[in-house]
Amino acid sequence: MSTTNLDSAAPSAIPAPTTNIRVGNTPMALHRPIPRRLLGVWAHPDDEAYLSAGLMARVVAAGGRVTVLTATRGEKGTDDPDRFDADTFGAEREDELRASLAVLGVTDVRLLGRRDGECDLGGDAPMVDVIAAAMDELDPDTIVTFGPDGMTNHADHRAVCRWTTEAWTRRWHGDPATIVGGPASAGDLLYATVTNEFAARNRELHDRLGIFGDFGDGQPRSVTRDRVALGCALSEHELDRKRAALAEHASQTTGLAEVMGEQVYRTWYREETFRRPTATELARAAAPATTADPTAVTPPAKPAAPMLELAA
Ligand SMILES: [Zn+2]
Repeated sequence: MSTTNLDSAAPSAIPAPTTNIRVGNTPMALHRPIPRRLLGVWAHPDDEAYLSAGLMARVVAAGGRVTVLTATRGEKGTDDPDRFDADTFGAEREDELRASLAVLGVTDVRLLGRRDGECDLGGDAPMVDVIAAAMDELDPDTIVTFGPDGMTNHADHRAVCRWTTEAWTRRWHGDPATIVGGPASAGDLLYATVTNEFAARNRELHDRLGIFGDFGDGQPRSVTRDRVALGCALSEHELDRKRAALAEHASQTTGLAEVMGEQVYRTWYREETFRRPTATELARAAAPATTADPTAVTPPAKPAAPMLELAA
């Protein structure tokens, strides 16, 4: 699909690019090699596990480096706020985040200090600065984050997409229409997405549990397979790791796993898929704030009940 920006002096521990993987019975091209320096930018503890646990584990196994930035401590991610003081609960979720990443071999996790459900408060600029500074420090070859749909349409998730995309656009200075995929110096910006097959396979499940209820039709925004720039179809062994990482987010995942049933829950996000931004999305991110998409500015999100939120 486009060039990647891996150094020519890749260490021998890095496997050669995979050219084909299988998703169920479907051969699926993997359009780029395993990242060597992966940066994930997410909103709440557990976002990273659902959407990129398998990818992170692969990067670590290949000798690469992973850093996770998490905007909030997810302190409102409880359906029993009377029982949990927000600060105490936030500390618990931070512990869960670190324990979950430890399962995957990831130790570099940084909290960005926004409040759960309030990522739109305080302005975008400070967060863009922090994320841009992290990109300058870490020089990631791959950056994964939410797309403009926020996966679940959660306002915090959409804010993280906005910040990260704007930070990334600072690293290039060309015409957005011509650089989809990004120049080598900026790293490859990838948005977490799901395929049409995922949406169809889980349609009844999503309807029943209301996981994507923040969308009018209750369904995730999905793409055709040819839009997937990086896909990880997890093996059983990798699924074991991902499930163990999710289990560390016990305050968020135990109840949902019970409602779904263990086997369904375990294989729900068995395929982690990412797409590149479109030229329109990049142009919007690069536009002055006065001409930005008005829908990009949203009121604070009400914290979703953890049972029904993919990743709060
Ligand atoms: Zn979330």
